[in-house]
Parts: sequence; C-alpha cells; structure tokens
Amino acid sequence: MNDCIFCKIANGEIPSSTIYEDDKFRVILDLSPAAAGHALIIPKAHFRNIFDLDDATAADLFVLAKKIACAAKKALNCDGLNIVQNNEEIAGQTVFHFHMHIIPRYINDGQSILWKPGTSDPETLKNLAAKIAEAL
Ligand code: 5GP
Ligand code: ZN
Repeated sequence: MNDCIFCKIANGEIPSSTIYEDDKFRVILDLSPAAAGHALIIPKAHFRNIFDLDDATAADLFVLAKKIACAAKKALNCDGLNIVQNNEEIAGQTVFHFHMHIIPRYINDGQSILWKPGTSDPETLKNLAAKIAEAL
C-alpha cells in the first residue's frame, strides 16, 4: 500500500519509537498515548483490519502481545493494562492498517476505555450465539 502510514512506519521508511522489531512485526510507541507506554503492534504486511488478517499473523500476534504486555508491566510498574484493537470507523479505527493497542494503566490515570454495559435476555443470547456459531 503506497499511501499507508503504518506500512511506512512498520517497514522503517518513517522513523518511530521502536520497542521491538522482527521480520513480521514492529512495535512502536503511540504518538498520542492514552497513558505512558501506550504501544502499537503493527504487522509489516498490510492488512486493513482483523477481517482480512491472515491466520499465521493472527497466531503470532497474541504471543507478541503477551511479551510486550509483560515487558511494559516490568518496566513501567503499571497497575493494569488494556489490549484494544479497533476495526472499522464505527469501532474507532482511524488508521486502516491492522494494529493492536497495548495500553498500560495507572491508578488515577483519568482514562476511560471500558464500554457501557447493556442488557440482554437468555433467548436473545441463545439466538445470537447460534447465529454466530453457524457463520464459523
Ligand atoms: P486506531 O484509532 O486506528 O485504533 O489507532 C490509531 C492510533 O495510531 C492512534 O492511537 C494514533 O495516536 C496513532 N497514530 C496515528 N498516526 C501515528 C504516527 O504517525 N505515529 C505513531 N507513533 N502513532 C500514530
Ligand atoms: Zn499499510
């Protein structure tokens, strides 16, 4: 993708604060962090989002996420950590090259990353579960 900023960052054409790099991924610090140490795991190959991520990248991704999360905890002594991954505009995606946010959290950091809990009922839950299961 010629015009994709994360392709350029992941492949080193644009400099970034890099925490980790291998042949498949680059992990950088977010320029507008939600909290100190907010990192982005970016595959070097271009995928728009989770809907077109390949299985091999998906499999390696969470192993790396765990490694980065544990390093952040050790280095920054954060009190908790959110993993966030946005897909499409409605879900908050602003850069259309797959990335995973690793966000260290600190007591009194003033952030609010959680959703408002909704309501449901057993019949609705059963129908939704069956519908998604059928699409697997
Ligand atoms: P999204 O909203 O797509 O899930 O997240 C995009 C993230 O990329 C945002 O948190 C934003 O701050 C970060 N970001 C956008 N452009 C750049 C950039 O050029 N460099 C870095 N390091 N982060 C960026
Ligand atoms: Zn890209």
